[in-house]
Amino acid sequence: MLIGGLAAAAGACVPRPAYAAPLGKTRTFRFAHFSDMHIAGRHSVRKVHEAINHALGQKDKPQMIVNSGDSVFDLMEACERRAAKQWRNFQSIFGQNIGVPVEHILGNHDIWGVNQSKCGTTGNESKFGKQWAMDELQIDKRYRAFDRAGWKWIYLDGTIPDYENGSYEARFDAEQYEWLESTLKSTPSHQPIIIVTHEPILSAAAFFHGDTTATGDFKVARSLMHIDGKEVSKLLSQYPNVNLVLSGHLHLSDRVDYMGVSHCCNGAICGNWWNGSFAGFPPGYALVDLYSDGSFENTFVAYESGEKLPGC
Ligand SMILES: [Zn+2]
Repeated sequence: MLIGGLAAAAGACVPRPAYAAPLGKTRTFRFAHFSDMHIAGRHSVRKVHEAINHALGQKDKPQMIVNSGDSVFDLMEACERRAAKQWRNFQSIFGQNIGVPVEHILGNHDIWGVNQSKCGTTGNESKFGKQWAMDELQIDKRYRAFDRAGWKWIYLDGTIPDYENGSYEARFDAEQYEWLESTLKSTPSHQPIIIVTHEPILSAAAFFHGDTTATGDFKVARSLMHIDGKEVSKLLSQYPNVNLVLSGHLHLSDRVDYMGVSHCCNGAICGNWWNGSFAGFPPGYALVDLYSDGSFENTFVAYESGEKLPGC
C-alpha cells in the first residue's frame, strides 16, 4: 500500500491466478489523468488551461487526457443559471480542440438537482440528474468499454444519487455490476484491463479524509469510497488481467495494491477547491504509461510548481 508515496505492507501477498503477460515490454500509451477540475468562474478556467498546458508541454507528451469527473464546480446544489454558467466555462475550454483527445466520465458534482430545494428542480426537467452532464460531456453511455493500445478500457459510473435526501452514495447499480461482470468475463485473459471511475473503489487516503476519529474508530462515508468496494474487489481479483483502477474524488493521491489490483487515486486539478493544496496535496494530475506486458507507471504531477511527488 502506498500512501502519498509512503510504502506499507498490505494485500500484495494475496494469491490470485497468475497473469499470462504478453511477451516483451513496450510502452503502448501515455495519457494524462485529470480529475476534479470543478470548473466554476474565470480563475478556474485560467488554472485548468495552466494544467492542460503543463501536461501537453511535457517533453514526453501524453497522447490524450482522461477526465475522471467532477468537471464542474457543483451541479448538486446549483440553480439552473449557475449550472449553465459552469458548463459554459467548461465548454470555453473543452468545447474546442485542445490538441489531444479528451474523454470524460461522470462525477457526483456533475449531477444536477441532487439537492432539489437548493437547485430549484422538480425532477421533471429534461436536463435533470445525469442527463445535463452527459449532453455536455458528449457521453452516450454512462459506463462503457473499448479496446485501445492493446488494453481493455472500462469507464464506470459509481455515483447513486439520493434525490429525496439530497445526498449520494458511491457504488455500482445492479445493471452496471452485471455489465462489468460480463465485460470482464468476455475480455481475453491475456489482454490487460484498466478501469476508470470517479469515487475510489478502494483507497487508504479515504481514512484520513476529514475528522475520522470522532468516535474513536475510523469511519469512511458512503459518499467517499465505494460502499460495495469489498464485493467489487472480490470480483476484480478473479481476473488476473485487471491491473489498474484510476479514480479521483478525494482530492488526495494514493495507491493501494489489494488482491493483485492496483488502485491509484490521482488528486484534483482544483486542489483545495481552487484554494491551494488540500491536506498537503497540491493541485495536480497524473501521467500514466501503459505497457504491452500489462504493467503501468502512474506519476502524480503538481502542475503549479512543477514539483513531482513520488510516483504511485
Ligand atoms: Zn467527487
